[in-house]
Amino acid sequence: MDGYKGGWIEIIAGGMFSGKSEELIRRLRRAVIARQRVQVFKPHMDDRFSTEDIVSRDDRRLKAMAVVTSNELLARVEIGMQVVGIDEVQFFDAGVVDVCMQLADAGIRVIAAGLDQDYMRRPFGPMPALLAVAEEVSKMHAVCVRCRGAAHYSQRVSGGDAQVEVGDSSYEARCRSCYETYRATAQEEPEVQLTMPQPVA
Ligand code: ZN
Repeated sequence: MDGYKGGWIEIIAGGMFSGKSEELIRRLRRAVIARQRVQVFKPHMDDRFSTEDIVSRDDRRLKAMAVVTSNELLARVEIGMQVVGIDEVQFFDAGVVDVCMQLADAGIRVIAAGLDQDYMRRPFGPMPALLAVAEEVSKMHAVCVRCRGAAHYSQRVSGGDAQVEVGDSSYEARCRSCYETYRATAQEEPEVQLTMPQPVA
């Protein structure tokens, strides 16, 4: 929505490895080049790479302010801001929907990127409501590791059954036909390992 006039909400949604952060950074960069006043936020919990930058997988980066709650995000938006970017928006509290609405109503272009579904394919946190109120939604797709088709899901391949399991190595991009329901292996009851002596050939 490069030709926008005034307030607007754009959501960049998709699974892991689908290039959401790259697309967010691309749009924010264009706004910076257009000499608009841009501010970027991310939830404080995501410190995989850096606490100050949002970093895409192709290692482009942009300064982002880590905030704990949606109220803190709203409070930290500076006067005169024209564009507000939010990365990993699915991790924010439900109040982030109202915050995005308030910013857009105040004439700010809001661009937020986030996971639309968790590893069980359940809609993630505030994403359903954000997708509903947004003027524009982009669904990004990764490449399925099994069939190389367009992947819509973040398949968990290791770890427990918590909704948030941070770490790229616990997931694979999968399409609908290659997706499998993940069953966490019981961590509290370690499997008894029967090691048989290997016969010498
Ligand atoms: Zn597939």
